[in-house]
Amino acid sequence: MSNVIGIAGNQIIEAVDVFNGNYVTYTPQGFVDAVQQAGGLPFVIPIGDPSQAAAYVSKIDKLLLAGGQDVSPQFYNQEPHQKLEETNFARDSFEIALIKEARKQHKPIFAVCRGMQLLNVALGGTLYQDLSLYADWQIKHAQQPTKPQFATHDIFVEKDSLLYQLLGEKSQVNSYHHQAIHTLANDLIVTAKSADGIIEAIESRDPKLSLLGVQWHPELRFNVSEKEFKLFDFFVNEL
Ligand code: MN
Repeated sequence: MSNVIGIAGNQIIEAVDVFNGNYVTYTPQGFVDAVQQAGGLPFVIPIGDPSQAAAYVSKIDKLLLAGGQDVSPQFYNQEPHQKLEETNFARDSFEIALIKEARKQHKPIFAVCRGMQLLNVALGGTLYQDLSLYADWQIKHAQQPTKPQFATHDIFVEKDSLLYQLLGEKSQVNSYHHQAIHTLANDLIVTAKSADGIIEAIESRDPKLSLLGVQWHPELRFNVSEKEFKLFDFFVNEL
């Protein structure tokens, strides 16, 4: 099993108080640590031109999409709602190109939080720009200031999913999102929901196009939760 993991990187472009004001490319350390601990070789892919996506994807075995900014709503044909937070059009365009290439080249994808939402948009789905637009919203999905190593809400996992093999029918997760999947892309299936019906995990309808998407942050809990580490171990070694 080859396991070179390309992690789509983010940018700090307002580095006023850090890095002496320099712009930087980065990814959260938890992704690097978890992939390495699972035996994978992580490479951070800097945001680039979408035309470079094919070349980048050809160098990796699997693609990891991290969290971060809101997805720009123009990618699902909506105007920005007043509650939309920061977006980065360049990151979205490039990561959408990476997703399309990964599927074309049959490279598995693990998508976390914003990554899962972007994956849905890249395949034709839409998002709630803010959870207040979801009629049945009841649960606190933005758990701050509670620290991310603490799981705060339940998820209920569908049988016959990859996720069920890893987590069982019920699990507890951390939660740092104010957006959620609204209409699901045709190529995807829902594999877990919260008690208020928010989509918390997705997989591929076609099992040959391997993908796993989660709405929570396993990279911030894999060192305190065996279940969360299993997600990385499965992605690196089996997906
Ligand atoms: Mn949640």
